[in-house]
Amino acid sequence: MKGFFITIDQGTTSTRAILYDDKIKKVDFTQVEITQYYPEEGWVEHDLEETWLSVVSCVSNLIKNNSLKPEEVVSIGITNQRETVAIWDKKTLKPLSRAIVWQDRRTSNYCQKMKDEGIEKAIKEKTGLLLDPYFSASKMKWLKDNLELNKNSNYLLGTIDTFLISKLTEGKSFFTDITNASRTSLFNIQECKYDEDLLKIFDLEDIQLPEVKENADFFGKTELFGGKIKICGVAGDQQAALVGQTCFDPGLVKSTYGTGCFLMLNTGRDLVKSKNKLLTTIGYKLNNEITYALEGSIFIAGSSIQFLRDKFKFFEKAKESEELAFKAEKNSNVFLVPAFTGLGAPHWIPDAKGAIFGLTLNSGIEELTLATLESIAFQTRELLDAMESDGGKISSIKIDGGMSNNSFFSQLLADTLKTEIYRPKDIETTALGATYLAAIGSGFATKEDLKDFWKIDKKFFPKNDLDHKFKTWQKYLKKLID
Ligand code: ADP
Repeated sequence: MKGFFITIDQGTTSTRAILYDDKIKKVDFTQVEITQYYPEEGWVEHDLEETWLSVVSCVSNLIKNNSLKPEEVVSIGITNQRETVAIWDKKTLKPLSRAIVWQDRRTSNYCQKMKDEGIEKAIKEKTGLLLDPYFSASKMKWLKDNLELNKNSNYLLGTIDTFLISKLTEGKSFFTDITNASRTSLFNIQECKYDEDLLKIFDLEDIQLPEVKENADFFGKTELFGGKIKICGVAGDQQAALVGQTCFDPGLVKSTYGTGCFLMLNTGRDLVKSKNKLLTTIGYKLNNEITYALEGSIFIAGSSIQFLRDKFKFFEKAKESEELAFKAEKNSNVFLVPAFTGLGAPHWIPDAKGAIFGLTLNSGIEELTLATLESIAFQTRELLDAMESDGGKISSIKIDGGMSNNSFFSQLLADTLKTEIYRPKDIETTALGATYLAAIGSGFATKEDLKDFWKIDKKFFPKNDLDHKFKTWQKYLKKLID
């Protein structure tokens, strides 16, 4: 069968539409940046109208630039920033407020209060998640309370995938996929359904919830681009990357370095419960079979490079960080704890703040840039140590995301983790994964066909011992959070 696939990748910092041919090779892409709003300390919002228009313009331009006819498009894949919550009018489909982004900490007091009441254990047991503002449920509750919505209000609440599917199908589809559902804190990952107790805990019993579908399935049709195009593959960004890295067998690991860092281990049919504050989540569901995963989430990775670029004005382009770090005095002993939006796994301290340690008159932008890159490698080491102590045996990691372009950083990872690091040719594995799902969902390919699609760009082997530096960094981190 000949044809093309269009994948919509609605990320935290930008929206992309990517065109793939029938060999699932990238042909072209369009991209639009998304404005970040920080109305109060710890709050992060997106204008949903802007998000939607960015999707429309990315897809329209991709179609126009490549003179595509809708009938040449086999199907659309969607992948999205997870946990972020949208609210929109059921009839007009107009957003009713800005989206509350996954990084937003406004519900940390609410979550802490529930923790003090001893509710976390039940939530963890059912969802595999922790009680943290990161996940959707407390954000949904905040919107419900603050917009003073009652049962009879004509609104829909959902994650970004649901918002986009609803808009693309002009209100005909109200669906989510199982990976996005598994991040809401309302979904029981063992029983694979929304959980009455959880809805009660978060006081969300009266909201209308989208139907949960497998990752490769029929999500509806869009007629907004000059003809009918099916939507056949949907997954949250990190799970899409797991698929895009073809981590289809238990024991395989991927680590994505975009805005944040997300390490995910395929645990197959086993729902592994972490003793080290990692998350148990759904990796994907295909052909009625669920694959579980263990996940370590760090909130800050590439965004710390953006921070050095935009706030400290160290450089104009993120990629210049590579050259700067290379020039740094390697034993400068400057350390950064990038807790700009609290700390994720394995600490989960929502109110932690970032800090720099060990500055001397010799510390320059090179040393601070090195410290920033190292801090992301050190945080990954903490995740890996936690995963191994939960029983995971990891000998290699497939990396992806914007930061994996940085070879200096990739080598730092191999050194810090003492593990082989594999970088694929196509590091946009999030979009690739959603395309694979769209290909499966439209009967174009099977999971088995896809294993041969993964191609390596470069392997990084451990060369330098960074144990001592890692331990010093951990000492400073402890100082900050104790
Ligand atoms: P997302 O999908 O979360 O928006 P991307 O995968 O597009 O993120 O990655 C973008 C992030 O990666 C940005 O935060 C940027 O600062 C960082 N980044 C991109 N290229 C590099 C590089 N060469 N070195 C370091 N950081 C980089």
